[in-house]
Amino acid sequence: MASALSERLSRLVKTMRGQARITEANVQDMLREVRMALLEADVALPVVRDFIARVKERALGTEVVGSLSPGQALVGIVQKELAATMGEGVADINLATQPPAIILMAGLQGAGKTTTTAKLAKHLIEKRKKKVLTVSADVYRPAAIEQLRTVTKQAGAEWFPSTGDQKPRDIALAALDYAKKHFFDVLLVDTAGRLAIDEALMAEISDLHATLDPIETLFVVDAMQGQDAINTAKAFKEALPLTGIVLTKLDGDSRGGAALSVRQITGAPIKFAGVSEKIDGLEVFDADRHAGRVLG
Ligand code: GDP
Repeated sequence: MASALSERLSRLVKTMRGQARITEANVQDMLREVRMALLEADVALPVVRDFIARVKERALGTEVVGSLSPGQALVGIVQKELAATMGEGVADINLATQPPAIILMAGLQGAGKTTTTAKLAKHLIEKRKKKVLTVSADVYRPAAIEQLRTVTKQAGAEWFPSTGDQKPRDIALAALDYAKKHFFDVLLVDTAGRLAIDEALMAEISDLHATLDPIETLFVVDAMQGQDAINTAKAFKEALPLTGIVLTKLDGDSRGGAALSVRQITGAPIKFAGVSEKIDGLEVFDADRHAGRVLG
């Protein structure tokens, strides 16, 4: 990244040396650099605007103390605000319910839902010692059902069969019934995706949500979608009470801006990051570390 935020800011810190206070005048240059860097990191424009407004408000109210220059103080404020927006700390999957804990996977086709379903199954088996069942409610693409079967096997979880002539709701209820009878701790429900948002898909997944009342509704989104991620995020947030985000394909995205956008638009915590195509390519999302990455 040629002009990372930290680089831009450290250049400014130098030019601001000798100035004792953060003022309306000198904060402007700084904020311009922050704005440019965030846009280059592919953060969506409305999200950048909000962010800048918050940093400015904080900065103007800040007394610069000790040996810090106003530039250095501002860098600190930007870093803190980035980490706070990204969601401080680490948010794991919530399983605190009568088993089976149901996890509904939502997102566009190609976002990485099926892959992530299997990765999550593996994570829950290995890290949380859970007995996990997966099922696909994607009745439009028989290949997607087969794909889930294959990756579920790799994950060491059990797969519940479904077919293209069933209704998604019936599939989900049959899987839930099976999960209860066989004492599964977790039921992961993979859903159909479309290449773009459409009403029928949203109505279908809302209905699945109402039927299953899942403890987690995870929005799976491709980090490489950049600016477009916010429109997808808005549509899914309106249709479903999202409890978390999985940001996939972070390995292919050097900018990291989608995290900030999606987090801000949905208000839901980013719980996991997909970092490879492989079954073990899932990491618990670390907001502080990611904030550092966006800073560059
Ligand atoms: P779905 O249509 O949402 O179910 O998406 P898939 O799970 O089929 O994934 C679409 C493509 O993205 C596949 O080729 C996956 O291997 C790939 N993919 C998913 N997650 C990641 C990730 O975190 N990193 C990389 N590099 N590829 C991923």
